[in-house]
Amino acid sequence: MTELNEAGDEFEELPYPWQEPLWQDLSAAFTKQRLAHSLLITGVSGLGKTDFLTAFSRLMICASPSGTRACGSCVNCLQGGRDFHPDILDISIEEGSKEIKVDQIRALSEFAHKTSHSGSCKVVLIQDAHRLNISAANALLKTLEEPSPNTFIFLVSDLPGRLLPTIRSRCQTIKFPTANREQAEAWLEGRLSESDKEDLVELLEASFNRPLYALSLAEEGELKSLSEFLRILYKLKAGSATLHSVTGLATKIGCGKTLHYLSLFSTALIKKLIGSETEAESEETSDSRNSAITELCSRVNCTQSTLKLALRELLVFDQELNKARRQLTSTTNPNPQLLLESILWQWDKLPLVVE
Ligand SMILES: [Zn+2]
Repeated sequence: MTELNEAGDEFEELPYPWQEPLWQDLSAAFTKQRLAHSLLITGVSGLGKTDFLTAFSRLMICASPSGTRACGSCVNCLQGGRDFHPDILDISIEEGSKEIKVDQIRALSEFAHKTSHSGSCKVVLIQDAHRLNISAANALLKTLEEPSPNTFIFLVSDLPGRLLPTIRSRCQTIKFPTANREQAEAWLEGRLSESDKEDLVELLEASFNRPLYALSLAEEGELKSLSEFLRILYKLKAGSATLHSVTGLATKIGCGKTLHYLSLFSTALIKKLIGSETEAESEETSDSRNSAITELCSRVNCTQSTLKLALRELLVFDQELNKARRQLTSTTNPNPQLLLESILWQWDKLPLVVE
């Protein structure tokens, strides 16, 4: 699935299948000189937003694109292929920091005033734009208010609601396309090792069909720890594990991952309970390889009389979970251990009956 360009770099074939329509739209707008100068690309992580924009910025500076693809062999493509081109500025959170700082945005305004090396245009990518601190956001706002004619700024964010409304209103917002099940399966199958292919269904389910996220779960061997954690959560409800042992395992896994695993389980449970309430249970998947999530959900039971209460409590729990996840990535430096303990305690109190 990979090929070598003339600079000798290995690069993924981009865009990925689910990104093709957006790629076509943006490249047509760029060719017709109708591309907005500030774009906000939103959408959940794990869909390849960064890969897409890195490749697209190379197309924008390519000296002789063929159709909607960069040629791969001109001087700009070769430089861009080595991850460095003076017309592309990639801004992201620096190591050890939790936010994008004002100095990084000052570098952007200097960059916007420089002449383009390629003679085409200059491209700025701001990763995790919701992490701009307040001075950086205000500095960016000034740059957006006075756009430089041949500079294009792409803000990337999976939490666009946290950006200043004044920044959002100056950008054209584009919701990044998601992959359908067939696309995600085909893409992932081509990249998994033979042994990981057995876990294909479970990986897609655990990642909510986000192909790149599913791949990273496989590569980091995370699926095993996810299953182990879900099973102990279930055992806690069934009375065969203690809150102490669950907290111990969660601490080992880490706060961020634990909250994510909990959110996968609670989302799946909410879907199941809503399904039983409306008696329109979704069709069982025809695949015999049920994931740990599906299997465990099928063992949580509610009688008609307890269903409404369980669902209501679960929805409250889900909100608390989201709040904890937001706190964890905020700059207020919360205590992860306290967050974990509080969330697991709330899980323990949920009125769920398991087999
Ligand atoms: Zn080229």
